Amino acid sequence: RNRAIAVGIDLGTSGVRVAALCEQGNIVGMALSSYGSAEERRRPEAWWRHVRHSLKQLAAEVRLDGIRGIAVDGTSGSLLAVDAAGKALGEASLYNDVCQDTAVLAAVDTHAPIDSAARGHTSPLARALCLQKRGGIAQVVHQADWIAARIVGDGLIVSDENNALKTGFDLDTRSWPEWMERTGFDRSLLPIVYGAGTPIRTVSPNATMVDFPKDAMIFAGTTDGCASFLATGAKQHGEAVTSLGSTLVIKIASHRPIDAPQYGIYSHRVRDMWLAGGASNTGGAVIRSFFADDRLRELSAGVSPDQPTGLDYYPLLEPGERFPVNDPVMAPRLTPRPSDDVKFFQAILEGIAAVEKQGYDRLHELGGPSATSVRTVGGGAKNKAWSRIRQNKMQVPFVESLSAEAAVGTARLVLMGLQNS
Ligand code: ADP
Repeated sequence: RNRAIAVGIDLGTSGVRVAALCEQGNIVGMALSSYGSAEERRRPEAWWRHVRHSLKQLAAEVRLDGIRGIAVDGTSGSLLAVDAAGKALGEASLYNDVCQDTAVLAAVDTHAPIDSAARGHTSPLARALCLQKRGGIAQVVHQADWIAARIVGDGLIVSDENNALKTGFDLDTRSWPEWMERTGFDRSLLPIVYGAGTPIRTVSPNATMVDFPKDAMIFAGTTDGCASFLATGAKQHGEAVTSLGSTLVIKIASHRPIDAPQYGIYSHRVRDMWLAGGASNTGGAVIRSFFADDRLRELSAGVSPDQPTGLDYYPLLEPGERFPVNDPVMAPRLTPRPSDDVKFFQAILEGIAAVEKQGYDRLHELGGPSATSVRTVGGGAKNKAWSRIRQNKMQVPFVESLSAEAAVGTARLVLMGLQNS
């Protein structure tokens, strides 16, 4: 069995994944434990059971007695209420839960600064305000915070700047800002926050029932989104990652933060870098609305990347766009539709590629770097013809991703931390 030095634990949308890296940064082991039901996604004790289960599998595959660092990433914006002993009080409030309390949403809307990432209908801060009402509450913490604390095993729960950002944390002052109190939320319920990837404390070898050494450190974790970026291997100024999933999401590493609330853009600090990104409403969901996945291979074989259709599409499922243009009533542009499905498909790919290019141009305009390379993740990443169409537009090198697994990105964050501590 290979010897690992860093472990990343990813609490994703469908289950828990763990990844182990060796000293050279290569992946030496991975394990997965999927949630058995939709209810498990909301149950903190189930998360913990799946973490222990996946770590046990990992231990069967790799030697963990040389582990020097561990970190956890969680779904960004998933929160739970805990009592004074750190025990979860009821179900978690998940990242995509919509706050139903209009008075609470109005309070956040009134008092959060206009550029705060804590705004919006799924606002973690608004949901924290709802959790605050649970009886016996001592703290409101993020999913990753709580799992990391279980691994340390001493009851103290801390957070990281990436998870804390959307809950209202101020990255300039590195504090939970005073305006949060005006929403009616008690700031003292929130954990102390560390920079992502900074060492926190040594772990208890007994907590997870796998043989981590006594001096293994837990590092401040991150969100699944930041972890996915790091997993690709991108980390230098100008290195970009495009996610071609149901929606188009682009991210770029930058020396400076980019904040543009009108486009829904804010930046995460990861060690000495900033990760800035934007999410468009275009993406693979539009492709799927016209073509089943099993037809895409055949259609792609007919696509001629070097002979553009000239159809200037803006593929959307329904009216409205936020980034790279902010126009809540913007109409989809998917006509005229050629009788040839291959040509229609190609025009959609070109349309999404144009939005991608426009997105990177927008980030540059807003003070970010221009992209020096692009890595691609998500369902569309495997489409070679599409990559060629996109590269024709972007005119920068397209680089293979090291991994698409957030757990690997979190393990890489640990390695960065180890190199600096
Ligand atoms: P999600 O964001 O839902 O996790 P995925 O990363 O799994 O999405 O990607 C799914 C999307 O990728 C679908 O919308 C599908 O249309 C698109 N997709 C899958 N295969 C291809 C392909 N070969 N070419 C282009 N798009 C594809």
